Amino acid sequence: MTEPNCPFCEPQARVLRENDNAIVILSNPRKVPGHFLALPKRHVEKPWDLKPQELQSIFELIFFVEQKILGKLGDGVDIKQNYRPFLKQGRLKVDHVHFHVYPRSMEDYLYQVSEKYETDLFAELDDLERKEVEKLLQ
Ligand SMILES: [Zn+2]
Repeated sequence: MTEPNCPFCEPQARVLRENDNAIVILSNPRKVPGHFLALPKRHVEKPWDLKPQELQSIFELIFFVEQKILGKLGDGVDIKQNYRPFLKQGRLKVDHVHFHVYPRSMEDYLYQVSEKYETDLFAELDDLERKEVEKLLQ
């Protein structure tokens, strides 16, 4: 099942590793060297539409990549999945569900350019907010 104009539905030349339901490619553009993407072979736009076997295949590849890059490209790894339907598909945003996997190290480039002040965002959770947000899961 492929979607016209989806760069991840026909990525054959970019596939570095695959299993039954998922593939790994390098992100291009990338944030840092060793920025991989793990994604289902089937075109899926909403993460909750992934089938259990697709999730399992994706995470098998994520864990494989993590172990390969740890100690070589970084001392840790971030895994990130964005769902942002409010953005139009383009070079920096592809609708086909994908998980970013990239190496991290203490005070690395990503920290220096975009996360240095992120700890300032943390605030104490107050009871009113907690109750309002907890209601969403009931
Ligand atoms: Zn696609």
